[in-house]
Amino acid sequence: MAIHLSRREFFEMTAAGTVAIGSRQPRPVSLLDAWRLSPAASAGGGAFTAQSVAAGWYDQPMRWVQLTLVENDPGTFDPDFWLDYFRRLHADAATLSAGGIVAYYPTEIPLHHRSAWLGNSDPFGTLLAGCRRMNMRVVARTDPHAVRDDVRAAHPDWISVAADGQPRRHWANPELWVACALGPYNFEFMDQVHREIETKYRVDGIFSNRWAPQGGDCYCVHCQQNFKAAAGFDLPRTTDRRDPARRAFTAWRKARLTELWKKWDATVRSVNPDASFIPNGPPDMKTAGELAAIQFTDNQARRGVTPPWNNGRRAKELRSVMGRRPIGGIFSVGLEEPYRWKDSVQSEPEIRLWVAEGTANGMRPWVTKFSGVLYDRRWLPVVERIYDWHYRHERYLRNEAPLARVGLLYSEQTQAEHPGVAQGDRAEDHVLGFYHALVESRIPFELVHEAYLTPDRLDRFKLLVLADAAALSDAQCAAIRDYVSRGGSLVATFASSLYDETGRRREDFGLADVFGVSFGGRIDGPMQNSYLSLDADAATGKRHPVLEGFDDTPRIINGVFRVEVKPKVDFPSPVTLIPTYPDLPMEDVYPRVAHTTTRELYLREMRPALSERSESKGARVAYIPWDIDRTFWDVMGVDHLRLLRNVIAWAANEPAPAIVEGPGIIDVTVWRQKDSMTVHLVNLTNPMMMKGPLREVIPVGAQRVRITLPEGTRARKVQLLTAGASPAVQTAGRVVTLTVPSVDVHEVIAIDLQGA
Ligand SMILES: [Zn+2]
Repeated sequence: MAIHLSRREFFEMTAAGTVAIGSRQPRPVSLLDAWRLSPAASAGGGAFTAQSVAAGWYDQPMRWVQLTLVENDPGTFDPDFWLDYFRRLHADAATLSAGGIVAYYPTEIPLHHRSAWLGNSDPFGTLLAGCRRMNMRVVARTDPHAVRDDVRAAHPDWISVAADGQPRRHWANPELWVACALGPYNFEFMDQVHREIETKYRVDGIFSNRWAPQGGDCYCVHCQQNFKAAAGFDLPRTTDRRDPARRAFTAWRKARLTELWKKWDATVRSVNPDASFIPNGPPDMKTAGELAAIQFTDNQARRGVTPPWNNGRRAKELRSVMGRRPIGGIFSVGLEEPYRWKDSVQSEPEIRLWVAEGTANGMRPWVTKFSGVLYDRRWLPVVERIYDWHYRHERYLRNEAPLARVGLLYSEQTQAEHPGVAQGDRAEDHVLGFYHALVESRIPFELVHEAYLTPDRLDRFKLLVLADAAALSDAQCAAIRDYVSRGGSLVATFASSLYDETGRRREDFGLADVFGVSFGGRIDGPMQNSYLSLDADAATGKRHPVLEGFDDTPRIINGVFRVEVKPKVDFPSPVTLIPTYPDLPMEDVYPRVAHTTTRELYLREMRPALSERSESKGARVAYIPWDIDRTFWDVMGVDHLRLLRNVIAWAANEPAPAIVEGPGIIDVTVWRQKDSMTVHLVNLTNPMMMKGPLREVIPVGAQRVRITLPEGTRARKVQLLTAGASPAVQTAGRVVTLTVPSVDVHEVIAIDLQGA
């Protein structure tokens, strides 16, 4: 277990100048096979094998810490204090400042700036040795984004150059210069630094902060020459994404960063095959999915108007490319606002909720702190309590797979290539609105990345959602079409598939045959004062199930933008358009057209013959031609939420793996571990839900929970991890029902499973 080092031992090691490396007992490294969903867990799902766990140490650590030293820390800060704190946190991996802007070890590399306070000390080596005595993994942190005058004097070409041809001073500290990220400074100088750190200390990895271009595009001689040689263009002077040089530059920048990642990784591995380079932020998510053994989200806290689920969303984004491989969430203990109070301390409820959202969504916590000298210590016991809870319940947090049955498409290319159909329509707002609606509806869901639309990724979901996934390639459309033909259901909104992967508009939807409608050639909006008529079926006089809960009204508000479409097959007609009419003067506010036959919701049940899965209920497809998700994000209308919830329920056509009923807004996630399953309830109910920081924790009352166990299993033991209680449980077949009396921030229902 953890060993506490005395201060004297540190000084002795420091005096010796180097750190004993060979003495560490390496932990057994298990080569984990790709985890396959057991038949039990795959009620209609497939294998989750696309991204297996990488060999090596990466899946071992559950709790990370990061200490980022400041230049005057050496000789001032107390390493013993930090090591003792790491021990109390039960941290099993640390990221420690080593080099780059400032070297915290006695570097031999010319121009690698040793801390002016370093003297003969080696604070990096001291902390590293202490961590190793506690059997922790250690990743060295470098930051290559800025340099001093001496570097600029020796290598003026290493400095980033602005569009006006001037070398780029650091925006926050004018004594520094911004280094060019894509030239010899990173490819040669920092490569040497990484080799030296790995050689001297044999760390488990090297993690670089701000390793991509900083402060704007670089126009240095190297970037000019390299881009010209690679793409044949001069560097773009416009940010217009349609400009061929800009398009080529975007691709080149990504390729160059990928090359840099591979180069640094090869250097690290050439010294220590068990180590690797870990970038803070990949060039893009697809590349992370291809290269990374482990990744972290650097989304340290809320800022501005941000819902707390945004931390869980980052976890879902990363998992959409990383699959089963470990992901971590870097969180700070301070305020993360544009004013950059790096030494600040955040409220306890806010820190707890932010970390809980990450943990509930499968992320391992990584607390980061700047400065070895502390001014405000209020955060220390807060993080200790969070980590202690995590440590005690670790076996229920080692997730093997999410059991969510709804997937929301995560389209990076739509975000990059499709700015929206008009001013006021932002592609991302559709996704945020749908995300919020899923959270409010308490539906467990995952994100599905557009680069990984393979059957083994898709078929674990009963329902795929396209929230204005506008920019899709033909191949991506084909993958979605095939998913539907295999019995998968689809809910799509607005301009989904109306554009190709480069953002060019198609003649018709790429998925027109799946939606059963064609593009009518026009997108209306922004519309004022338009409504939706809720209609009964002409033959039966009954309303469709998607209108459940609207019995007391003939109409609800419409959205703001709508795509004109032409139906190609027969559809029911539960929701029709009431066109815009004047909203002023008040005397003129009456509908000019009371009712139309223009459908604003297209519901389609695919015949089972289309389905290859004979046991499947068959696919249901719902296409909503207006911006219900974007408008919901904008105005948060309860009728839009209800309609979305009903459409999701109709399309999914099966009960969710966990159904949680009770007051409040709760993010529900459901997981499988090796011998157990968990249902996480994160209580978002708070007047500061959409704009932090939380003032207080406001517990939410009793939640009635209905959980469907994986096939072939039964519950051996049911616990509430936070309450520390064993609730009364009713069991009927595979369905377990219980009541969670209260949730303050985060409760976990943990069910030990055994074969039936
Ligand atoms: Zn450059």
